[in-house]
Amino acid sequence: MSDEATSARQIVLASGNPGKLAELSTLLSPLGRHLRAQSEFHLGEAEEPHPTFIENALAKARHASFHTGLPALADDSGLCVDALGGLPGVRSARFAPSVDGPRTQQDADNNALLLQRLDGVSNRAGRFVCVLVALRHAADPEPLIAQGELTGQIGMTLQGQGGFGYDPLFLLPGGRTLAQCDAQEKNRISHRGQAMRALIPLLQNAWGRAALDSLRSGQHPPAP
Ligand code: IMP
Repeated sequence: MSDEATSARQIVLASGNPGKLAELSTLLSPLGRHLRAQSEFHLGEAEEPHPTFIENALAKARHASFHTGLPALADDSGLCVDALGGLPGVRSARFAPSVDGPRTQQDADNNALLLQRLDGVSNRAGRFVCVLVALRHAADPEPLIAQGELTGQIGMTLQGQGGFGYDPLFLLPGGRTLAQCDAQEKNRISHRGQAMRALIPLLQNAWGRAALDSLRSGQHPPAP
């Protein structure tokens, strides 16, 4: 395959989260597109200043597309807990005060803080939310947007080694946590899996050959 054709099959993922990259790469594989992490382009995380998942996902996708010149996919996701008025929500990644350590340490601190905030609280209902945004280029006026949700309960203790983030605290109806599911099972039920399955037909319909050809020949409007 030529370099041009290869690059037309690439999409940059507007995230540095290896858990998301693994899940989304698998979920996107039916389209035959190669998902490349923005870190491969030495691109840092975009600011996420907005109060909603959708606004943050758009901002992340624009940032990644602008700096790489590639079509971009962004995932903004998080855990919304009813008893906490929807927190940690869009702040899920950095719920606990930020540490300059590995992502796993931040995840552990986030889980510890969540347990602390729910100490003595009987309503443990919560849901994972994922919004996916796909852009053909940074100034794309027609972003493709899909959303998925997974409802469950926040457990009393951490259980399981799989997944990432809040998975060890997220209890499914059968009593296991998301961290006790294998990757395939998580993709089948998760907020991210649902959002990607909703996005794929939109991508297939809207990103036809013509759109990819214009991307390759640089016909798209200049990025802002
Ligand atoms: P974002 O990078 O701002 O979208 O932050 C997403 C954060 O939400 C992650 O860092 C996790 O803390 C949490 N999160 C999102 N999806 C999942 C999931 O599938 N499992 C566990 N935690 C998740």
